[in-house]
Amino acid sequence: MRIIKSSVMTSEVDAKVDIMYGLKTVLSQIEIAVARRSKDLPQIAPRLVAVSKIKPVELIVEAYNAGQRHFGENYVNELSDKASDPLILEKCKDIKWHFIGHLQTNKINKLLGSPGLFMVETVDSEKLADNLNKQWLKYRKEKERLRVMVQVNTSGEQAKSGLEPLETTKAVEHILENCPNLDFQGLMTIGQYDYDITKGPNPDYLCLIKCRQEVCEKLNLDIKDVELSMGMSSDFAHAIELGATTVRVGSTIFGARPPKNS
Ligand SMILES: *Cc1c(COP(=O)(O)O)cnc(C)c1O
Repeated sequence: MRIIKSSVMTSEVDAKVDIMYGLKTVLSQIEIAVARRSKDLPQIAPRLVAVSKIKPVELIVEAYNAGQRHFGENYVNELSDKASDPLILEKCKDIKWHFIGHLQTNKINKLLGSPGLFMVETVDSEKLADNLNKQWLKYRKEKERLRVMVQVNTSGEQAKSGLEPLETTKAVEHILENCPNLDFQGLMTIGQYDYDITKGPNPDYLCLIKCRQEVCEKLNLDIKDVELSMGMSSDFAHAIELGATTVRVGSTIFGARPPKNS
């Protein structure tokens, strides 16, 4: 776990009003982007996942009180700690957690035991799908299946997790056929950082769209039933115009994070 300096926490907690402002701004930009979205795309209202990594629970409560329900974390320990925090349990009864980081086998139980876990967006191997499928039996309530997305490494960068685009359909087929406790929801990508959209549509997002096309054609699924999770603070409106159904936005809502390794 990273250590959060208390001075940082205090100044962030002081910035309450900005969270509401940030959230409102993002929601209105989402609405504008939806209106600009091509009419031949499935007209699914995009879901905003507020990425709260490094940010204290007080700010999550603040965003929750402003109406936000879906939150994302990319470290299992951090998601687990926040999801089990007494303040969150008391004040955010309907919170929905998305796991959006790389999931190691030895952390699966910790993740699945987290209260309010809604979706694992980062299934990046058939083996991980099998493990989740098996372990979920211990944690599920009322036979509810665990929602999952398959993460695709659209940019081909070594450092990024995710399946090769060409492996996507096979992995989805594996989940549909062999993982009855998982509920396949869609595809997710991070993509390269700092892509300049004045150069045209983000090739990572076009790649994810193509993967969905193939998945739907080969596995006979309706495009409306297969989500695309793509787009972050710098480009969520662009991603929505291309057809994102889930956007994961952190710093625009919660303020900038200190640089990694600081
Ligand atoms: C941090 C993170 C985000 C949000 O990034 P911002 O630029 O702060 O909006 C989205 N997706 C993933 C997987 C992340 O780790």
